[in-house]
Amino acid sequence: MKYETVAEAYRDLEQASGRLALIERLAALLTATPAELLPVVCYLCQGLIAPEFAGVDLGLAEKLAVRAVAAATGTAPDQVTASLRETGDLGQTAEQLLAVTAAGRRASLEVTAVVGTLRQIAGAEGAGSQGRKLDLLAELLARATPLEARYLLRHVTKGLRLGIGTPTILDALAQVYAGGRAARPVLERAYNICCDLGLVASALVKGGMTAVGQLRVRPGNPVRVMLAQRLSDGAEILAKLGGRCAAEYKYDGVRVQAHRTADGEMELFTRRLERVSTQFPDVVELLRAGLGPREAILEGEVVAFDPAAGELRPFQEVMFRRRKYGIAEAVRDVPVALFCFEMLYADGEDLTMLPYTERRARLAGAISQAPRLRLTTATEVDDPAALEAAFEQAVTDGCEGLVCKSVSPSAGYQAGARGWLWIKLKRDYRTELSDTVDLVVVGAFAGRGRRRGTYGAVLLAAYDAGADVFRTVTKCGTGFSDADLAALPPRLAPFQRPARPARVDARQDPDVWFEPGLVLEILSAELTLSPNYTAGWGQIKEDAGLAMRFPRFTGRYRDDKAPQDTTTTQELIDLYRIAQRTPAST
Ligand code: AMP
Repeated sequence: MKYETVAEAYRDLEQASGRLALIERLAALLTATPAELLPVVCYLCQGLIAPEFAGVDLGLAEKLAVRAVAAATGTAPDQVTASLRETGDLGQTAEQLLAVTAAGRRASLEVTAVVGTLRQIAGAEGAGSQGRKLDLLAELLARATPLEARYLLRHVTKGLRLGIGTPTILDALAQVYAGGRAARPVLERAYNICCDLGLVASALVKGGMTAVGQLRVRPGNPVRVMLAQRLSDGAEILAKLGGRCAAEYKYDGVRVQAHRTADGEMELFTRRLERVSTQFPDVVELLRAGLGPREAILEGEVVAFDPAAGELRPFQEVMFRRRKYGIAEAVRDVPVALFCFEMLYADGEDLTMLPYTERRARLAGAISQAPRLRLTTATEVDDPAALEAAFEQAVTDGCEGLVCKSVSPSAGYQAGARGWLWIKLKRDYRTELSDTVDLVVVGAFAGRGRRRGTYGAVLLAAYDAGADVFRTVTKCGTGFSDADLAALPPRLAPFQRPARPARVDARQDPDVWFEPGLVLEILSAELTLSPNYTAGWGQIKEDAGLAMRFPRFTGRYRDDKAPQDTTTTQELIDLYRIAQRTPAST
C-alpha cells in the first residue's frame, strides 16, 4: 500500500464538511487497506504511529525540519524559512517546493517504510541523534510526492491534527469489517479497555467480532476512565441509584491510573493517557511500598497534602507538580497523597465486571495504607439525611463534595462512560443556580479596543458523545485576566483551522475556528433556550438549543481534560430539566 493513498485520504478528510462524510472517506481508505496493515493505518487515521498512550514523540524541531526540506529540494534554508513565514505551515511550504523540484514524481513510498522511518526518527536518541533524524527525514522527502511531503512534515513537527474522533474511526471500521455501524458498541468497549485502536483492529481482522468481544483489560494498556453524571440533590441521587449508594469523598486533584506490569514496572497514566510516573516519583514509591498484587491496575486521586497538618490542599497546588523540570524540588515543596478508589485488575484477573462492593473489597485487600497512601473515605447510605451529612463532612474535610456510586450487583466498571452509576454532588452546584461546567473552545471573536490583538470572546461547545460531535452552548468573554487574554492566542494557535472543523456543530460564524482542544471551566448563572446555539438542539424545544446566561471563565484551564471529557450535551439537558423543577432562589 502506498503512503500516497493515506495522504490522499488526509487531504479529503481535511475538507470533509460533516461527520458522515468523514466516516465514508475513512471507510473507503480502510477498504483499500490490506488486512495486515489495518492496525498501522488505524494509527495513521488517529494522526499517530503507535497508540496514544505509548507517548511516541516525533517532535522534530521546526528548524531541523526546515533543513531537511532544504536538503531534499536543493533549496537554501533561508528560502525555506522565508516561504514558511508566508504559509505558516511547513507542510504547505514543502509541498510547494516539491511541486517545482519533484513535479511528475510517481508515488513510490510504501506505508510500511514510512511508518518504519517515522519510528526510527522518534527513537533516535543521544549524541548525533539530531543529525540522524534530519537525514532520515530528508531521505523520505527525497522520494515523496508533494502531497506526501505536506503530511510527512506536519506529522514530524507539530503532529497531525486531523480532527477525527476515535468513535468516528470505529464507525468506519464497523462499516467495513463488521457489517454495519450497529457493531460500534462492541468495538468501542474493546477500545475503551485497551486504548489501542491497532490492537482492536488486529483482533477484528484476525478473529472477527468474537475476538474483539474477548479482549480484556491488561496492565500496561490504560483503561479509559469511568466518569460521573451530576445531580444537585441527595434525595434525587438516591432515587437514581435505587435507594442505596456508596458515598465517597470527591478529592480535588489529578486522577491517575497506576499500572504495574509483570516485569515489576510501574506507570501512572492521567485520564488523558499521558505517562506521569516521572512527575510523581513519590506516588510510584508509595505504591511500590504499599501495593500487594504483583500485576495490578488501580485508580486514585493524587491530591496536594500537608503532612504536618494532615490536611488536603487545593487543586492549584497539585497542578504545580505537572512539570517537566525541577521535579525533585517540586516533590519537596508540594507533597501529595494518593487516595485510591478503584481496582480494575489484579494478578491475571479482570475485575471490571465485578460489582462495586467486590472491587472495593479487592482494593482494600491490595493496599497497605500509610499516611499518604489511603483509600477514599466511603460510607454506604440509604437515606437523604445521611447522604447530606456525608456531603457536609466531605466539604468540611477539604473535599469538593461526593461521588455517589451504585452498589447494585450488576454495576461493573464502565470504561469510558459517563453513566448514572456514578453521580457527583459538588459544592458549587449548591450555590443558587451557579454551576461550573467544562467546555471546549471551538471559535473566537476578535477583540476590539482594549482587547485588540487578542480575543474578545471565545465560542464554547459541549460534547455530544453519541454523535462524536461538539455542539456550541455559549460565547464567553468574562473572567479572563490580562495574563489569560495575552496567553489565549498562542495557546489556541495550534488548534486554528481555516474553516469550521467537521465535528463542530455551530450556527455562528466566529472570526477564527478551532479544532476542539482547549478546555475551560465555566461558571454560569443559568441555562436558557436559544436558536443560536446547537447543544441539545430540538431536544427540549423545537428549533432551539441550550445557551448559558452570564457565563464566566473561572480561571481554571482544564488541561487534564481531553475535549471529549468536557461536559456532555446530555448533562446540560439534565441540568436544564433539574433547574426547571427547582425554582431559583432569590
Ligand atoms: P469531574 O472531573 O468533575 O467530572 O469529576 C470526576 C473526577 O473526580 C474523577 O475523574 C476523579 O478525578 C475525581 N474524583 C475524586 N474523588 C473521587 C472518587 N472518590 N471516586 C471517583 N472519582 C473521584
